[in-house]
Amino acid sequence: MPHIQQLDSHVADLIAAGEVVERPASVVKELVENAIDAQAHAITVEIQNGGMSLIRVTDDGCGIAPGEVETAFLRHATSKIRSEYDLEAIGTLGFRGEALAAIASVARVELLTRRLEDTLGTSLTLEGGVVTGKEEAGCPAGTTLLVRDLFYNTPARLKFMKKDAAEGAACLAAVQRQALAHPEVSFKFLKDGKQELLTPGDSQLRSALYAVLGRDMALGFTKVEGSGEGMTVSGFTSLPACCRGTRGYQFFFVNGRYIKSKTMTAAVEQAYANQRMVGKFPGCVLHLTTKLNAVDVNVHPTKQEVKFGAERQVFSAVYYAVLAALGADQSRPAAVVA
Ligand code: ADP
Ligand code: MG
Repeated sequence: MPHIQQLDSHVADLIAAGEVVERPASVVKELVENAIDAQAHAITVEIQNGGMSLIRVTDDGCGIAPGEVETAFLRHATSKIRSEYDLEAIGTLGFRGEALAAIASVARVELLTRRLEDTLGTSLTLEGGVVTGKEEAGCPAGTTLLVRDLFYNTPARLKFMKKDAAEGAACLAAVQRQALAHPEVSFKFLKDGKQELLTPGDSQLRSALYAVLGRDMALGFTKVEGSGEGMTVSGFTSLPACCRGTRGYQFFFVNGRYIKSKTMTAAVEQAYANQRMVGKFPGCVLHLTTKLNAVDVNVHPTKQEVKFGAERQVFSAVYYAVLAALGADQSRPAAVVA
């Protein structure tokens, strides 16, 4: 057996980056989440060649102080939490301080940022995680992150990328989820120069739904509003006649974070009981709002899986809210199983 050695930090960074940055859409997700955490009102995402050659995310958020731009790219560097106690109630989308470090280690990155209170902004360039330039720069308030040549230094990962069209579609899907999660933010998505999404950012979930799914499909949704078990459930769900042959139109959010949840999926589908045909699934955009400490988001690096303190309560809150939206007879005791 060879001797046991600790890996050098570059190799360790590449391994860690693999967990966060799986494909271009993961970069889009992380950068958009940073923009939302920075209180942006408008976020523009541009990609070229499915995001493989270029991803640019521009926001009008709080910007980064000139003295902190390098720090932002260090591993476990974050402005969002300070101590282990903060992990119990996370109110931001990010908190692990990993994304920028991970992205920078597998691409060529350019940061352009200015805080509103500063007259000059900063530009920082990195290649494979190493800073190659820093200078003062005139730029609008907010932040632009430019990511070029993703995975140029990790051929093993590069090999697994799908065709540009598939990667580009995944990038659009990542922006659509954030647009449905944050109707108060205006999102624009451009693919190879062509605009594919624009949401108004008027704080109305209905407007975001129209922009994302298109008018015809959005008309097949009805409003959901419910509360109970210390949480609220709001959003839209398909009219029974408008169920589709795929679960691809089910979107679940907890406290503004897109998640995948078997519990919420099961709750929605059971609420339809025999109102939907076999092989047809409801679409839905459901926002669950709970106390921050009722959900643990620190389960997986991408944070799409979460742990609820009380799955059963989540199930019933969602189930009854959707049932009410469908106008079902609630006097009948329904079998609630988590
Ligand atoms: P995290 O989001 O988990 O804190 P990141 O690596 O994604 O970690 O970002 C590191 C830090 O850089 C953030 O905590 C934040 O302070 C800063 N930052 C990143 N993106 C932006 C942005 N678009 N606007 C303002 N600050 C940003
Ligand atoms: Mg982040």
